[in-house]
Amino acid sequence: MDIKDGVLFGSGSEHPSLKKGREEGVWRGSCHCENVRWTARLENAEHVLCHCATCQKLGGGPYSCNQIIPKEGLVIVSGNENVGEYEYKGASGKFVHCYFCKSCTSHIYHHQDVMPDKIIVRTLLLDGGGSMPATGEIFAEGKLSWVRDLKEELAAGQ
Ligand SMILES: [Zn+2]
Ligand SMILES: [Zn+2]
Repeated sequence: MDIKDGVLFGSGSEHPSLKKGREEGVWRGSCHCENVRWTARLENAEHVLCHCATCQKLGGGPYSCNQIIPKEGLVIVSGNENVGEYEYKGASGKFVHCYFCKSCTSHIYHHQDVMPDKIIVRTLLLDGGGSMPATGEIFAEGKLSWVRDLKEELAAGQ
């Protein structure tokens, strides 16, 4: 979301695409330009924060909001031809495949060779994701000191 069209730290400005999309744990998602749309089935509507250096680089923020779900739990509904792939070698030496919108660069999900049956979906891109709680975190050693100040009581990661 562009700074100009939102209210920073104010009451949430509702993006036109933000319609509650909840049917039995199935959430609708879209990239910023809305060329790509998808659905994701979540067992629990919650975020796991990742503080790793790669998420910081790719997203330009202090952490990313994710959930690991079964691969079949994510369905690209439209714009599949607009989904690009970027891959890098993870700490394990195996590849991580990042799938993103080629127009606006929103990252939709990641797929790791070490977890072939699972994908990592970016939960904040799901409609209503802004109201999901953050219930866990990984790579907490990468957490920026001021993020700790923002939310001290969040359970310590592993
Ligand atoms: Zn897009
Ligand atoms: Zn990460």
